[in-house]
This record gives sequence, structure tokens and C-alpha cells, in this order.
Amino acid sequence: MAYDDYVTPSSVEEAVAALASLRGAGRIISGGTDLILQLQHREREASCLIDVTTIRGLSEIKRDGSFVIVGAAATFAQLERHPIIRGQAPVLAQAASWVGSPQIRNVGTLAGNVVNAQPAADGSIALLALDAEAEIANLTGRQWVPLSSLFVSPGVSRVDATMEMITAFRFRPQASLEGSAFERFARRKALALPLINVGVRVQLDADRSRARAVRIAIGPVAPVPFRACEAEKALLDRELDEAAVREAAAAAALESKPRSSLLRAGKEYRVELVRVLTQRALSRAIQSARG
Ligand SMILES: Cc1cc2nc3c(=O)[nH]c(=O)nc-3n(C[C@H](O)[C@H](O)[C@H](O)COP(=O)(O)OP(=O)(O)OC[C@H]3O[C@@H](n4cnc5c(N)ncnc54)[C@H](O)[C@@H]3O)c2cc1C
Repeated sequence: MAYDDYVTPSSVEEAVAALASLRGAGRIISGGTDLILQLQHREREASCLIDVTTIRGLSEIKRDGSFVIVGAAATFAQLERHPIIRGQAPVLAQAASWVGSPQIRNVGTLAGNVVNAQPAADGSIALLALDAEAEIANLTGRQWVPLSSLFVSPGVSRVDATMEMITAFRFRPQASLEGSAFERFARRKALALPLINVGVRVQLDADRSRARAVRIAIGPVAPVPFRACEAEKALLDRELDEAAVREAAAAAALESKPRSSLLRAGKEYRVELVRVLTQRALSRAIQSARG
């Protein structure tokens, strides 16, 4: 691992100015749980690391008008405990509680999880279910973009951490008649990326029987965090009984394309996991939306 300098800017503007002056040789670092290993293995190069975790307000979680705002440097430990996230985005609080170990959750951040762009990333799957947006800052200013547009391929994000940074995420808070849930299966309960993870958010109509909106995010079943759009359609405007949930879960299994992997089990087994976990997550989210 070779880098000559480590800087701690005190503002977002300072951080992006530092990146610009380094012309691609600098890189943003947050918790370092992914990046330090990548530097050690020479999968990434940087002559200067720009640590954004000390920027004031960058790890803040708050309500702002019609959005929940989560600062880019919010850690998983913060997310799993924060009353706004537990109450208004349970899918994200539940996903955060599954990540790594207490040590990883204490320093690992949501922005690092997204920019690292793993199709199994727990934080990314939950944010996708929430239909979140990310704010990206560079020398030209700041811009909100849909999270779903940020993933290119395994390990490759559209956010170029040598030139720009994520400053925050935003999404609509969970209102009445809404529910969300996260389900996950891994070889063991700590320090293992999931074989399959599923994040779901459901909004019911006024009589609590039909779905007005459904989002189902699943990982790792495609090169990037994946939305099961056919399964979502299968639930819209129909009675949300057990049969409907079973059919939607079967549709999710059909449209998911996990690979067989020595690390993560065979394809057939993982397709079956998609069906089971989607059914569980939908049932829990619907139950929670019905109050
Ligand atoms: C033992 C272990 C277990 C793990 N378990 C899990 C798990 O269960 N689930 C899971 O999803 N992940 C897991 N991870 C992966 C990792 O912890 C997460 O991806 C974490 O969220 C990364 O965040 P970080 O702050 O440590 O990112 P860093 O390592 O600091 O950075 C990761 C990448 O994001 C970029 N970056 C960081 N912050 C910003 C920003 N604000 N703007 C732009 N770019 C930025 C960096 O340049 C780098 O490319 C595990 C890792 C380890 C080592």
C-alpha cells in the first residue's frame, strides 16, 4: 500500500478542490474498510487519501421537508440505531444491522458501500428499495441523481472518487399505509457477504388491501444491485393475499440471474433463496403497512 499524503478537509468544497488539484492521483476515503484492502492488494492506486469523515455534518441523519437526509459518512452503527431510520426507513436500519461485525459497522459508511458497487452490498440494496437519490459534489457544484443510475458493473460505480464525492442520500420517509423489510441469508451471521439479500418497500391503498406502490431490490443476482420489476408489477392493483405474495416471489425468482459460485453456493439454491426471502420480506412489509 503506497500513498504519500493523508488529508482531512474541513468542508466538501475543500475536499473537491483537493481532488481537482491532484488530477486523479487523490482518492476519497471514509471508513477504509474496502479501500485499505484494495490499496494493499494494488486493486486501487492513490498518492493522497482525502478523509471526508471529519467534515462537519457529513454523518448527520435528519428530516428535511419531505425527505429523510442521510449524510454520506453516516456509519452502519448509526443507521441501525437512529430513531429516524428505525421509524421511517426500517429496511435500511435492518440492512445496516446485518453488515460485517461491530467493528465494521462502527466505521463503514453508506457512501463507501455504494461507491464500492458490489451487487451484494446491503446498504445499496436497502437504498434501492427506498428509491433513494445521492447528492454528488464536484468542482462544478452539487447534483441529486437516482441511486439506480450509479452502478455500472461489479466494483465499478459512476461516481469517480478521484474527482467527486457523495455528500448525502435522500428518500421519502415511510408514511402510514407503508411498510418495508430486509431479509438476508449468509453462510454465517457475521463477517460474510450475503448469498442473497432482499429489500422491500410497499405502499397500500386507503382500504389496506391493494398495493399502490411496490419496490423489490435483490442482491447479488445480477452484475449490479437489481430491482425485480416483473415481481413488482405482479402485485400492483390486486388483492394482497398470500397467493399474490407467493406469485410475486416466484416472479422475482424467475427474473433473478444469480451465478453458481464456490463462495456463494449453486445457482439453483440461490434462486430458491430469492423466492423464499422475497416472500418473507413482502409478508413482513405488508403486515407492517397494515399496522
Ligand atoms: C470484514 C468485512 C466484512 C464486511 N461485511 C459486509 C457486509 O456484510 N455487507 C456489506 O454490504 N459490506 C460489507 N463489507 C464491505 C464494507 O465494509 C462496506 O462496503 C462499507 O460500507 C464501505 O464503506 P467505507 O466507509 O469503509 O468505504 P471506504 O473503504 O472508505 O471506501 C470504499 C470506496 O468508496 C469510495 N468512497 C468512500 N466514501 C466516499 C464518498 N463520500 N464519496 C465518494 N466516494 C467515496 C472510496 O474511494 C472507495 O472507492 C465488509 C468489509 C469487511 C472488510
